Amino acid sequence: MIYTLEPPLPKTLTPADYERIHFNPAELPRKRIVGLLACQRDPLLQELTTRVVSVAVSAAPPLAQKGRAKKKDKSSSSAASSINGTGANTPAEQGKLWEVELEDTVIFPEGGGQPWDTGVMYVTGANETHALPIEGCVRRKLDAVHMVRVPPGASVDMAALPGTDVRVTAHWERRMDHMAMHTGQHLLSAVLDTRELPTLSWAMPAWPSTEAAYIELPRALTWAEAAEVEGECNRRIRESVRVWIDFNMQGDEGVDGESDRENRGIPTDYTGGVIRHCVIEGIDRNACCGTQCPDLSHVGFLHILPPSTPHAATEPSSRVPTRLYFVAGPRAVSHLALASRWLSQAGQAIGVSRAELVPRIEKIEANRYDTDAAAKSLKAELASLVGGAAAKSGVAWVHRAEKSTHDYDFMGMAAAVWNGGAEDGAVIVFTSALPGTSPALLMVQGKDEARSKSVFDALQAALNGVDPDAGKRVKGGGARGRFMAKVDGKWGKRETEAVQGVVDGSARA
Ligand SMILES: [Zn+2]
Repeated sequence: MIYTLEPPLPKTLTPADYERIHFNPAELPRKRIVGLLACQRDPLLQELTTRVVSVAVSAAPPLAQKGRAKKKDKSSSSAASSINGTGANTPAEQGKLWEVELEDTVIFPEGGGQPWDTGVMYVTGANETHALPIEGCVRRKLDAVHMVRVPPGASVDMAALPGTDVRVTAHWERRMDHMAMHTGQHLLSAVLDTRELPTLSWAMPAWPSTEAAYIELPRALTWAEAAEVEGECNRRIRESVRVWIDFNMQGDEGVDGESDRENRGIPTDYTGGVIRHCVIEGIDRNACCGTQCPDLSHVGFLHILPPSTPHAATEPSSRVPTRLYFVAGPRAVSHLALASRWLSQAGQAIGVSRAELVPRIEKIEANRYDTDAAAKSLKAELASLVGGAAAKSGVAWVHRAEKSTHDYDFMGMAAAVWNGGAEDGAVIVFTSALPGTSPALLMVQGKDEARSKSVFDALQAALNGVDPDAGKRVKGGGARGRFMAKVDGKWGKRETEAVQGVVDGSARA
């Protein structure tokens, strides 16, 4: 038997049998608990006039969306203030944040992986109506708590609101994005279930991000598998398969409650509430607290980002839990539009059409590999010549100013060749400095560790002494006869003279 919940919600295009209440709700209080909120009973309801139950000044820290979305997106509060035109930044400009509980709401509090809604609360006073931004909504046990901003200067007596009516509207672009992604996730997980690929977890960045959401699977997919699954999802979307919600009292969920994907994730502080199962007709039935599209046509399109497995591979690249990224609904369009622009931009960067991009990049990569190999062998040959040509007795000094040899690797190779023919007490000093670039590099090597160290120490002192105001410019150290350091700052005539002084002095010593 299906019960109806009084009072009825305003009519929308959502079919009447979307909401299927399988328990007698006659005893329920007027204040709707999370699970039975208007947004969870009719996902297309954009606004509702409802009564204020309680208000309190918010002591909560600024809202932060769970998951990776909070790092990548500007906070939801900035999104809310920008849609409402406040655009404020500092606390003094922002006004006061209030926590408001309502009898019912179209503002979804976050849950089940779906980020919270934002919106506007319209408060009508004696002479005017105030549009107060709802910056977010959180669930506290069974209650939905709206975070409502009262802008500075707004003459709203919040404390007088309980018992009065307000109108709340959801930020619809944000909601549709989250909703289509969430329904898309249920569909995708259901299609993957039929391939023995259970969803281990999922997460989505909040609007206005256009980044993909992911579901975590026991292994990676091949491109062919991903394309098949995407095709299957889009076939179901084209069929406009119906979606509805079964509502049961918690503890009376029916037969398959425990095996659900999302039942495992029901928060421990949600007790005494309702259990909702989202049913995609003939395809899936899973516990879910989110807002779900009334049929799959609202999702529009679902795209699976090609997995990291090489595109022609017939075996997946990973047998351990792996994220599969997807976009659905309006986000699929914005995500793919951006990808298309990047593709054109990449083509322009190397001067080929989009169709030629991949073969050209493969060719460039092959060339680069050959060039790198050639450069490496030339560098080794040059190091051998440089090391071989340096004096094998006393203190030899080699200075270079070439980008291609400005590294310890080159110095080390040259030093190794030099070392082969050097006398026991000989020391070689390498310096490398590029015009206008810091740091310069210094390497000292010799067979006699004590002698190498004394030359290195003298070089450090001399270079640090060039400009005493610059602090300690030489940083480094070493052991076993080889010492390396970086020399901060500009390398000029005085640095060259400092090194020359040490080399000449050590040679005389
Ligand atoms: Zn769900």
